[in-house]
Amino acid sequence: MVRSEFEMMLARLGAFYERKLKPLDRAVEQWFERVKYIPGEALDWIEKRIQDDPGGWPKNITTAIKDLYLQWLDAHPEKRAQERKLECDECEEGLIHVRKISHRGQYYNFVFRCAKCRQSNLSGISFARIGDLLAEYERQPEEWKPRSRSTKQMLNGIGQPIPETRVYR
Ligand SMILES: [Zn+2]
Repeated sequence: MVRSEFEMMLARLGAFYERKLKPLDRAVEQWFERVKYIPGEALDWIEKRIQDDPGGWPKNITTAIKDLYLQWLDAHPEKRAQERKLECDECEEGLIHVRKISHRGQYYNFVFRCAKCRQSNLSGISFARIGDLLAEYERQPEEWKPRSRSTKQMLNGIGQPIPETRVYR
């Protein structure tokens, strides 16, 4: 979504619940940072759910929006598939898998989030462009493509270099 869509939704919800005070700009700024990954097309649906909530204005607006977004994805499985398939020529579904050889001839694997498409929501992983990485790393060979690895294996590879027992010669 873009910021104006978010602000308009807040304004309509504020009117709906007869809130007298507008949220502060710096609050809206922080809220937006937390929810901007949600596509604009989900907002109408989310807004109606917030209006239908017997609890009234949500205690935590961003948590409410994020929870409702997950419900929206469940209600629209075709969107979930679409979301996953964002094509990018620099990564594998938002992640870049590279490796570096040590002086002892061992490979260390690294994973980065692709800074070109920014489609990965995994937190705690640096963004990088493949072009910049190739100065220091090399791409993972075909047989070590992330598709053939489990999510758990991938998550284990995040953040820190993992010594691999596997040595390429
Ligand atoms: Zn990418």
